[in-house]
Amino acid sequence: MWDRCIRRFSDYIIKMLPEVVFVLGAPGAGKGTQCSLISKEFGFVHLSAGDLLREERQRPGSEYGEMIEEKIRNGEIVPVEVTCSLIHNAIQKSGKTRFLIDGFPRNKNNLEGWERVMADKTKLLFVLFFECSRDICTERCLNRGAAGSGRSDDNLESLKKRFNTYLNDTMPIINHYDEQGLVRRVNAEVSPEEVFNDVKKIFKGLD
Ligand code: UDP
Ligand code: MG
Repeated sequence: MWDRCIRRFSDYIIKMLPEVVFVLGAPGAGKGTQCSLISKEFGFVHLSAGDLLREERQRPGSEYGEMIEEKIRNGEIVPVEVTCSLIHNAIQKSGKTRFLIDGFPRNKNNLEGWERVMADKTKLLFVLFFECSRDICTERCLNRGAAGSGRSDDNLESLKKRFNTYLNDTMPIINHYDEQGLVRRVNAEVSPEEVFNDVKKIFKGLD
């Protein structure tokens, strides 16, 4: 009797937890573009870890501004304490229940930090993985830079470093989730509309 009660109560608590989808893929794979489409059509809140860090970098009085800028320019990854608390605050501030976490977790430190602080406060639905070749991604980022993205890392030198970090640090995280059957792959080498057609099939599968 008590067992059943406790189980039903914990099921209830799990249902109330904010639901998250991690969105991963190489720089320039189209994570941000697809996330805005998903958030419009399916009502998820789009939280870009990179955007949150760029905002924090600009915040007057931030003690992390310089460190963040240096990491971003060098394609390195900011310590998880900073990123995770920005994500946590954004989730709490939104008052919403479903989130796309774009560009996170990117390495082992990110994964461990998330598991330590956030994993039991949220429910991970799946990991959306945009697959795109290095050449196409590099071209997209360079075009984005040339079109005035204003990003200090949309240049060839930073891109080389970002790609190395992606291959060495982020791919193992994707493989880790793949082993748990949590990865949903999408071919991201086609137009945004075509990519979104495949993405929709995945999100329509949710209730
Ligand atoms: N970044 C980080 N931790 C994160 C997300 C981003 O340190 O969880 C930093 C990292 O230096 C990365 C940069 O922010 O190269 C840009 O990330 P963003 O996701 O905006 O780039 P994208 O992959 O979308 O091109
Ligand atoms: Mg992005």
